[in-house]
Amino acid sequence: MKPRVATVWLGGCSGCHMSLLDMDERLIALAGRMDLVHGPLLDVKEFPDAVDVTLVEGAVANEEHLIQIRKVRARTKVLVAFGDCAVSGNVTALRNVLGNADGVLTRVYGDRAPGGRVVFDELVPKLLDRVLPVHQVVDVDLFLPGCPPSADLIHFVLSELLDGRSPDLAGRLRFG
Ligand code: SF4
Repeated sequence: MKPRVATVWLGGCSGCHMSLLDMDERLIALAGRMDLVHGPLLDVKEFPDAVDVTLVEGAVANEEHLIQIRKVRARTKVLVAFGDCAVSGNVTALRNVLGNADGVLTRVYGDRAPGGRVVFDELVPKLLDRVLPVHQVVDVDLFLPGCPPSADLIHFVLSELLDGRSPDLAGRLRFG
């Protein structure tokens, strides 16, 4: 049976998933070695059981993300924080300087929201007061930094994991 691989998109810009697509023809070779079972490229609503590897893009920024990442963790063997927003909060966490969710909403909408308030319901999840990197909510098995991580780095990590090895990122990360 091929390894079951998933991706998840939390509070991020989708740039990490775009970098994944930048693997170009290497994706075809990887696709033959795994079953892709969840992600924004698939029409699968519920995160499945028994996933071997999940790449998580983005930070935890609202209540829906909290529920989702806990479910993902419970159903995944190797959880990868995929990109700097997942690793550290990065761009998504910039709004933390505004104090809390009310501070963000006031800064963005002022009194222009209906009735002077932003209405949250099942379609508009409530913002958390602080944006959190993934490891502050659940255990992370591997940190894959970069904004976004390069296609070469993503390819290396996925190839190693599919071969049953733990990727050694020493010497492969470039800063600046
Ligand atoms: S790490 Fe960069 S590319 Fe990835 S979701 Fe965050 S801002 Fe976008």
